[in-house]
Amino acid sequence: MSGYILIVDDNPNNLRLLIAILQERGYQIRPANNGVRALSTAKKQKPDLILLDINMPEMDGYEVCRQLKADPDTADIPVLFISANDELHDKVKGFDVGAVDYISKPFQEAEVLARIEAQLTILRQRRQLAGILNSSLDGIMAYQAVRDPEGHLLDFRWLELNPAAAEMVGKKREDLLGEHLLTQFPFLQSEGIFADYVQVVETGESLSREHYFSQFESWIQMFAVKLEDGLAVTFRNTTERKNLELTLARQAEQDGLTGIANRRVFALQLTQEWRRSIRSQKPLSLIMCDIDFFKLYNDLFGHIQGDTCLIQVAQTLMNQARRSGDLVCRYGGEEFAVILPETDAAGAKEVAEHLAQAIRDLALPHPQNAHQGIVTLSLGVATLVPRRGEDETELLLAADQALYTAKEKGRNQVQVFAPNDQHES
Ligand SMILES: [Mg+2]
Repeated sequence: MSGYILIVDDNPNNLRLLIAILQERGYQIRPANNGVRALSTAKKQKPDLILLDINMPEMDGYEVCRQLKADPDTADIPVLFISANDELHDKVKGFDVGAVDYISKPFQEAEVLARIEAQLTILRQRRQLAGILNSSLDGIMAYQAVRDPEGHLLDFRWLELNPAAAEMVGKKREDLLGEHLLTQFPFLQSEGIFADYVQVVETGESLSREHYFSQFESWIQMFAVKLEDGLAVTFRNTTERKNLELTLARQAEQDGLTGIANRRVFALQLTQEWRRSIRSQKPLSLIMCDIDFFKLYNDLFGHIQGDTCLIQVAQTLMNQARRSGDLVCRYGGEEFAVILPETDAAGAKEVAEHLAQAIRDLALPHPQNAHQGIVTLSLGVATLVPRRGEDETELLLAADQALYTAKEKGRNQVQVFAPNDQHES
């Protein structure tokens, strides 16, 4: 057996007997024959366990135990009383001052050994647990419920937290132990975390949640389980993974060349705005536009400059569509689309004219474009107040029809869809 035990007894015969028994079992022993010596020895070289006699001259065992418990350096050393005082009130007093066990004299050797070994086992397990907590990369906190006399859960008190948890919240363990959660972090109330914790304690159901804490500039994955009248929460900082996910999600919505929204986002957004418009019965407008003679531009300057031209046009369209609900996207090739929610035909035509002018203002040379020798757009505008039973394809077809008309009529212009156009062409 391993373990370093301090034996305190004023009777030399008792001391000798206990030392003999315990040394034979392989324990390391330090004796002390009075209370003062016991205290100084315990502080100098902290034992795993103290066997403490009660009846001693000058300072009795109760007082020794009280002083041990009052000193943070020695407070956590388990104390076993070993005494001839066999009355119940002696034992109660022993536990009151902080002992973990009480052995009556005269003692049975086997009983003493069993009780010592039981305490040392608890101690080893507690050290293992502390090792796990201290080395864990996950933050771990344990809280106890704070209730009012009617039993309502008002707050939580910190019972334990490991170094990773302390680092996550930027506080010292000693500054949080025993403190109230909401006093330290009032924002947990408004962010719904406190309500989640209460639910775990009141229902016994565990909870898993990922939350962005702006206070810590971090995404934190939390896992909370009920622990007696309180809970234990494991925290993992997932900021890096979350940022990667967000980047990937953004990339999935972006056109790889121009960086503006892609056709997938366009389709989703158009469907969404169409539905919104059915409900609100406000007009929804769509502009489809196309770079004039872009194939000739590519043939003359090559694809690399062609790509540069697409990027410049895309960025210019983006800069022009300033309202937050408007969406500019690359529809494909040299075609772009602009969704304009709650915009009537006149408003949409105005936006389209602005876009056309903004591209002309870029004055990108395009010798093959007969008009002005610069890059220009053809634009088709359609506006509908959707009716139930129709779908967004109606709007898409209408804008496409108007774009076709703009090209037919000589390009570098805006055409607005009129229902009769379909019959004319
Ligand atoms: Mg004695």
